[in-house]
Amino acid sequence: MLPPETALWNRVERTAREVFARYNFGEIRTPVLEATELFARGVGEETDIVSKEMYTWEDRARAASEKPQSLTLRPENTAGVVRAYIEHKLGDTGQLQKLYYIGPQFRRERPQKGRYRQFFQIGAEVIGPATSGSESPLRDAEILEMLATLLDELGIPRASAANEYKGWRLHLNSVGSSTDRPRYVAALREALLPVKDRMCPDNQRRAETNPLRVLDSKDEADQEIINGLPKIADYLDEASTAHFTAVRAALDACEVPYTVNPRLVRGLDYYTRTTFEFTVDLGLGTQNALLGGGRYDGLSEMLGGPKAPGIGFAIGEDRLILTLQALAESAAAASGEVPTEPKVDAYIAPLSPAQDAAALALARTLRSKGLSIEVGDGTFRLKKSFDAADRVARSIVILGEDEVASQTATVKTFSTGDQSKVAFSDLATTLRS
Ligand code: AMP
Repeated sequence: MLPPETALWNRVERTAREVFARYNFGEIRTPVLEATELFARGVGEETDIVSKEMYTWEDRARAASEKPQSLTLRPENTAGVVRAYIEHKLGDTGQLQKLYYIGPQFRRERPQKGRYRQFFQIGAEVIGPATSGSESPLRDAEILEMLATLLDELGIPRASAANEYKGWRLHLNSVGSSTDRPRYVAALREALLPVKDRMCPDNQRRAETNPLRVLDSKDEADQEIINGLPKIADYLDEASTAHFTAVRAALDACEVPYTVNPRLVRGLDYYTRTTFEFTVDLGLGTQNALLGGGRYDGLSEMLGGPKAPGIGFAIGEDRLILTLQALAESAAAASGEVPTEPKVDAYIAPLSPAQDAAALALARTLRSKGLSIEVGDGTFRLKKSFDAADRVARSIVILGEDEVASQTATVKTFSTGDQSKVAFSDLATTLRS
């Protein structure tokens, strides 16, 4: 990643931090390496991530008494956050923990546009003892409303009937509680039994090992069968149904649009109740999932911790950047304007090496007043300095022997062609105007 693109990454991260702070989230930084077992237990052995995508190796023992340890480059961040929650006994505070992270994740996937082996996620988790309100549907709705706000503030439009393909879309589902799910999985297994032989080999295998995964399948030929399978909504108990209804009512009250998608079960085992995904049909081809998340009320216990219901999401930052770039490109194409790269306020050009020190001192003064400055090189001829300055700066400040002696520089502004002598003491004001 290189400039100027990294400026866009920084803008996205700055906006995310600002928005999250308004919702009272604080930043957590977890290690890039974790014990393999954390993901095997937390994410699930049967998932694609754990069964084939993790970068895992045996770390050599340092001393004879030590056992080698299996380590993994984190493929996602929720398990690490929950590990930290358990290890630092954050539940003992009795408070709801609202934590966000920004960082690289690693999965051995087939690379293509929008899908990389090192990719970046911006995510957040709300987790705490049940007494802290962590189970409340309000938390689910608040997280979703926060995401809608973030995308709004980044300038990604909402999908609407008028621009069907251009905006973001929220897909929502409930996968039920840990008691609803087994009943549904059993029904799914039964329904798959008579039809699975007509499905692709992957789905035949999933029908046996992890029937929920069949619902994720993109296999064209299998879609008709999949659409005819039982729906999770019919297997939710009263409490799960009430929870889902409350989430939807709060979203309606906040005017966050969504579509209920009964097939949205998502790739990880730890989800309970609310699951969601935001998609964008813009610039990403088939990789249109911009972010995903859901509730994981049993995850802490699965990892040996106390009961700590929670909900979280992870945004694919790479895909967010691709979306913003595609939007900027289509806006530029519509307006016919060529996007320009940002320029510094001034380029200081010393006329000979004898003015190099004075140039750097002047740059220091101007930078301390908040101006962005590039400094040339006294070995450059004036023509070369002008060319270099025109590429990176709005104005050139020429410093020869006389200018240093009189503390007055010659300033030329490229956009207007104006040239004048300006006292060093007035330079900051002149350049700014
Ligand atoms: P997940 O952790 O699988 O729920 O993914 C959450 C989000 O991370 C997805 O919606 C994608 O935007 C992004 N993501 C997942 N895997 C990759 C990858 N290999 N490359 C780029 N982005 C990814």
